[in-house]
Amino acid sequence: MAAELAVKARRQLGRSLSLRLVDAGSCNACELELNALSNPYYDLERFGLRFVASPRHADVLLVTGPVTKNMREALLRTYDAMPAPKWVVAVGDCAACGGLYADSYACERGVGGVLPVNLRIAGCPPSPTKLLEGLLALCIPPA
Ligand code: SF4
Repeated sequence: MAAELAVKARRQLGRSLSLRLVDAGSCNACELELNALSNPYYDLERFGLRFVASPRHADVLLVTGPVTKNMREALLRTYDAMPAPKWVVAVGDCAACGGLYADSYACERGVGGVLPVNLRIAGCPPSPTKLLEGLLALCIPPA
């Protein structure tokens, strides 16, 4: 799935991607690892990837957490505000399938219950290296 997506993303957006993060009920450990991508060691921006504050400037919607019922509407509105073409990446096991909270009455069992998901990055939480590999798969097609 990542390889197919990479070709499409590269064709439509070139080698840079703007990322908008929505915390849809995470424990914040996934955010800590995402934050680490901006430090001098991982240095996300050297790959043409950057976080943006507005969904209107974003190509990729990163979602963490199992998507609580309370966050469903905010997630949908963020997605709707993004210009096409756009992609959704589920970050961490919670976003991918509900994770630890899959059986909770208060959750949607992950992003897939609310939006079309283009890429899932597994882990609880995923390491910065794994996150970087997943995001690079979007903008750098395999050799
Ligand atoms: S996947 Fe793990 S680290 Fe990420 S929000 Fe869920 S419980 Fe927290």
